[in-house]
Amino acid sequence: MKHNFNAGPSILPKEVFEEASRAIVDFNNTGLSILEIGHRTPLFEAVMDEAVSLVKELMKLDADKEVLFLHGGASTQFFQLPMNFLSKDKKAAYLDCGVWGTKAIKEAKLFGQVQVVASSSDRNYSYIPKEYQIPNDAAYFHYTTNNTIEGTQMQSIPKSDVPLIADMSSDILSREMDFNQFDFIYAGAQKNIGAAGVNLVVVDKNFLLKANSSLPSMMDYRVHIANGSMLNTPPVFAIYVCLLTLRWLKKIGGIPAIEKLNNQKASLLYSTLEKSSLFHLPVKKEDRSFMNAVFTMTDSSLEKDFLSLCRREGMIGIEGHRNVGGFRVSMYNAMPMSSVEALTELINEFINTYSS
Ligand SMILES: *Cc1c(COP(=O)(O)O)cnc(C)c1O
Repeated sequence: MKHNFNAGPSILPKEVFEEASRAIVDFNNTGLSILEIGHRTPLFEAVMDEAVSLVKELMKLDADKEVLFLHGGASTQFFQLPMNFLSKDKKAAYLDCGVWGTKAIKEAKLFGQVQVVASSSDRNYSYIPKEYQIPNDAAYFHYTTNNTIEGTQMQSIPKSDVPLIADMSSDILSREMDFNQFDFIYAGAQKNIGAAGVNLVVVDKNFLLKANSSLPSMMDYRVHIANGSMLNTPPVFAIYVCLLTLRWLKKIGGIPAIEKLNNQKASLLYSTLEKSSLFHLPVKKEDRSFMNAVFTMTDSSLEKDFLSLCRREGMIGIEGHRNVGGFRVSMYNAMPMSSVEALTELINEFINTYSS
């Protein structure tokens, strides 16, 4: 039995893996593989249409929002977004809360001015800055909702008078949120939505009126919208896996149901770790992520013992990010409670063995 706590690509529901594998051999009883049908056939158009409408339904998006499935992972959005909305005479505001946000800032600087409104780099990104001013003349304000590597998560939506933009790669569809407050949302699919190779983008039509002209077609969101995410061959299989995951999420009760489960998983794990001074939780309690729990050992020489205990019991992917060290337990939507329970049992066993 494996318990997969990988940070990304990561666990997806078992039924999604099973159905996706069936579709590789015979898609919808057509006698054809999903991998060999044209993307402009009614068969694949139905996949795209249903995926888009499930995103709108689950996120309760209003009529001004367009949903796109684009190539390139979240890292492409780090530059595609400023390419569309920044220029040398414009500035954008960014919150610097972790490694991914820093990368987004670096790319934006290629296209215009960037004002970092606040940063938590002074304490290894172990908290979310709360006091900052977003300049009124910024083209947009960008932040990361969940800092996958550092294990922090923004618990409320910042108030912003300028267009609000979020990288939601590692917590999209994991909790209820008023998604309509955002002018632009993007998320690499491989954490909560599906397979690597595709990005979910939600963009407000009114915000798009401010986009730059003379962009390469593949970089221009308006062109992608006009072509229904099929300007060129889309990542068909990755989009199909998203559809299966979205169907699964709807079936189990949508975002309210998954949020309840995610809260239970995170509370159980954090409260177990907090019981013993063997474990150190670097992130301020109020800023802790419900998706990625980060911790170290107070006595770092015990880390390898804990890791080998976990490995022996089939716990996969709990090593911390190479920049951070220690441990990181990712508990995305598809992670069942039983896996978190199995891990907390091991933590308790470890505490009993090493505390005395
Ligand atoms: C994983 C991740 C990314 C990078 O995604 P790619 O699809 O690999 O480009 C960006 N932002 C956040 C918050 C992430 O968790």
